[in-house]
This record gives sequence, structure tokens and C-alpha cells, in this order.
Amino acid sequence: MNGSAGSCIVTSMPDFASPKRSLGQNFLADPNICRRIVATLGLEPGDPVLEIGPGRGALTRILNEHSGLVMALEKDSDLVRHVRQTFPRVGVIHADGLEFCWEGTAAMPGLCLVGNLPYNVASPMIWEMVSRCRNWKTMVFMVQKEVAQRLTAREGGRAYGAISAWVGNFVRPEFVFTVPPQVFRPQPKVHSAVVRLSPRPDAAWAEARRLSVLLKTLFSRRRKQLGTILKSGWSAQMEEWCALNKVDRRVRPEDLGPDQLRALACIAVDVGGPRDPNLPESSRCDCLA
Ligand code: SAM
Repeated sequence: MNGSAGSCIVTSMPDFASPKRSLGQNFLADPNICRRIVATLGLEPGDPVLEIGPGRGALTRILNEHSGLVMALEKDSDLVRHVRQTFPRVGVIHADGLEFCWEGTAAMPGLCLVGNLPYNVASPMIWEMVSRCRNWKTMVFMVQKEVAQRLTAREGGRAYGAISAWVGNFVRPEFVFTVPPQVFRPQPKVHSAVVRLSPRPDAAWAEARRLSVLLKTLFSRRRKQLGTILKSGWSAQMEEWCALNKVDRRVRPEDLGPDQLRALACIAVDVGGPRDPNLPESSRCDCLA
């Protein structure tokens, strides 16, 4: 520990392999921040909890004291071994969060998900989790500050994009606190932030695929007008919807809220993207900016 007043950053680490940049390994070295992240989850006795990317166990150490079922999902086999040895009561799943069958979480009602997510894949991972996890209670993630701003952005602002509209259709997002680079080893170049996501009872399960295609179409041309982007599929029904909702067809996608975009996805006949019937409901959007 660093002995200077007000700080308890861990400065020495046990003998680990070097952090893998390809896996976004920036490990938390400040127990106070770790405790704050776990406290943000608001765990109640008996709640099952799943940590994404336990790494060297900075958050796992705190979760290990929780009375409910504790699980962790990790891609790096060295770290899987480490977490299994250090925390024998934690159920460690050796898997890739980008390929994981999130639908399986439905079997654990009240599941809380937490993680200092690998920054290089945090957005696509959150895209999948919010749309495919079921029956969960709370999600708390640390991500790059800029990503946290996008996740919690409202329409009309610069940070608002496809992922804001997508996430806003499944959860209520909150920006909780900012975290400086100094609390990580190695230190990232950017600030981080913690977000808390609470499930929306009226999540867009039924419209997920259409919504994903629409968002991809609209936000890949976000500076264009709605009517221009959807020109080929513009219908009387869309005209009627615009009139009813006082939406001018010259509006830009970034000015439409999550619910408006969901409504549009329901009536858009042809939203420009190829319709592949084999795509999963939450076909991932590759315009996460
Ligand atoms: N929780 C630890 C901490 O805060 O110190 C580690 C956080 S580190 C930013 C991200 C962790 O996610 C690493 O352990 C990394 O190996 C793991 N990871 C990276 N990509 C992953 C993926 N696709 N699926 C699951 N885990 C992944």
C-alpha cells in the first residue's frame, strides 16, 4: 500500500503475467474505489451476483464476502486459474463475454451484474447484456468516461447516439461517479466512470431486431434528415406518425428519443438494412459511436 495520507493505492502486485492490452487489462489498485463500485450495486443478502472480467480479483475480493451466489466470467485462462485458486467459493465461468449466452441469466432471478469492463469491448458487451439478460436486478459497470456519457446521454446532445437510444430502450441508465486514471495499473490515458443500469419493465424485447436495424441505418448517417435516410421506405403510416407526434421529417436521428425511435422501428417497413431471418433478436449494431 502507498502510505500517503488519504490514499491506499496498492503499489505492488503479486507475480502475474504482464497485463494484456488486447484484453483491456487495466486493473483496479484502489480498494476504496472497489468498495464504492460494489456499494453502487446495492446488494441485498442472498442476491446472486455475476462479475464480468474479475481479472486479478480487485472487485471479486469484496464480492466474495457477499452472502449470495457469486459468479465471475473471465476470458483470460491465466486469470481464470488465479480467481479459482484465490476464491474457491466463486463460480468462475471461462468464457468470452461477447459470445456468451446472456439469455441463460433468466434462470437467476434478481441477478446483479458488475464489472470494470475491458474498455475495448465495453460498448458491444453492454449492447448485448441489456438486450439479452432477463430477470436481472441491477447492472453496475465501470467504462471509459466518454462511453458512460454516451450510455446516459439524452437526445439532442452531442454524446447521444445509437448506443444511447438502444440502452435507453431496455434500461434506465445513471452516471454515478468519475474515476481518475491513477487508480489503475497500468494507468489508462483517459478518465473512467461508473454507470448504474436498472431494468425498464417495458423493455423493447419484441422490437429488438427492428430497432437494432433502424438505429444502425439512422446513426450511420446521423447528420442527415430522417426523411432523407428513410426515403426509400417512407410510408403513409410514417407520415401519419410524424404528424401525430409533431415530428418534422427533416429532424435528425440524434434529436429523436429512445421511445420515438422504438415507435418508428415498429412502423418502418424498409429501414435500409438487409433483413436476415437468422439474425438473433438483438443483432449487434456496429455503429456504436
Ligand atoms: N475486475 C478487474 C479489476 O477491476 O482490476 C479487471 C478489470 S480489466 C479492466 C477487464 C477484465 O476483463 C480483464 O480481466 C480481462 O481479462 C477481462 N476480459 C477482457 N475481455 C473479455 C471478454 N471478452 N470476456 C470476458 N472477460 C474479458
